[in-house]
Amino acid sequence: MKKTQKFIAMEDKFGAHNYHPLDLVITKAEGIWVEDVEGNRYMDCLAAYSAVNQGHCHPRLLKVFRRQAAKVTLTSRAFRNDQLPGFYKTLTEMTGYQRALPMNSGAEAVETAIKAARKWGYKVKGIKKDKAEIIVCANNFHGRTTTIVGFSTEDQYKDGFGPFTPGFTVIPFGDTKALEAAITPNTCAFMVEPIQGEAGIIIPPKGFLKKAADLCKKNNVLLICDEIQSGLGRTGKMFAHEWEGVRPDGLIVGKALSGGFYPVSAFLADDEVMSVFNPGDHGSTFGGNPLGCAVANEALKVIVEEKLVENSLKQGTYFMDRLGKVKAKSIKTVRGTGLWIGLVLDRPARPYCEALMAEGMLCKETHETVIRIAPPLTIKKKDVDWAMKKIEKVFKALG
Ligand SMILES: *Cc1c(COP(=O)(O)O)cnc(C)c1O
Repeated sequence: MKKTQKFIAMEDKFGAHNYHPLDLVITKAEGIWVEDVEGNRYMDCLAAYSAVNQGHCHPRLLKVFRRQAAKVTLTSRAFRNDQLPGFYKTLTEMTGYQRALPMNSGAEAVETAIKAARKWGYKVKGIKKDKAEIIVCANNFHGRTTTIVGFSTEDQYKDGFGPFTPGFTVIPFGDTKALEAAITPNTCAFMVEPIQGEAGIIIPPKGFLKKAADLCKKNNVLLICDEIQSGLGRTGKMFAHEWEGVRPDGLIVGKALSGGFYPVSAFLADDEVMSVFNPGDHGSTFGGNPLGCAVANEALKVIVEEKLVENSLKQGTYFMDRLGKVKAKSIKTVRGTGLWIGLVLDRPARPYCEALMAEGMLCKETHETVIRIAPPLTIKKKDVDWAMKKIEKVFKALG
């Protein structure tokens, strides 16, 4: 443990304390496995909050990344580069939108969606200056910028960071009556996660998104889905909104978009919305850079060609079925779709995550009492069986 303690002491001494990580220090990773500085191996059941759906250091991504890094990494959008067009083409063809706007972090893509929705509200819908409203849901997670935390309902995310951006209305997640009541002539968008990840993998009542889409259409309001975590195969469909057969007017993607190699995010929409942006309206120095585009283009192809969406559904269904059979007093329920599973306990989940870590399995609690299980989508049945042995052992010991 000497090496581990040394790294932890250094990190805690010089870094801001804005995280509370499990105390292992990872030094390398491959596929669903990571290795710490002591040489211990762990199955990664968090997958960097679904940013490594393709598995760690995927060989195809590594190859493209290396090749592109040796050619050109950053041009800024002041000049064109030869990787952006191909990425646009793959991303828009795969999602069925006419246009994409590339950013880096998820929060930036959410900010892009907010800007697009507001500007569409003014220029297309005809909302009066500075009156645009966006409806969001309680327990949302859309990122950490000041505007975004301003409409969070999590006290800690906001505490000490105000004043906040006005123009957001919060409704209960899954409540279409509340949505209908919240829509005003000034509403430009309803922004929602089809399944709430950070809130604890909360699946809304069946039909919620469909009804929400109908209400949006009827009232000339944009439906924007934040699929940064739920998208790209995590739930057993390419996008979680497909479970309800809806097509959002705007789609936000990030995380697995680059398979963990480089921050790449995007906002997707059709011409009617995207054409509100003119040169100079919005941008990012690194957004659309050739290194990010090259790796993201390949990352999307890996998801399709390796049938990761199908595997997510297959292994996720099997995993959830097995978890449902674990007998333990502490387990209240098991919920999820695809390889996005929440094991809901009646007590703090952290000790269970620590016990699982000691058994070689990495999970992270969310909202105190939920163990989130979300491994890379490359996981195989024999790996799920391995994980189940560890889980059964831990629940037998801790109850
Ligand atoms: C992670 C996440 C974000 C923020 O992404 P960052 O890359 O951390 O800025 C936004 N929305 C959802 C649904 C997320 O899961």
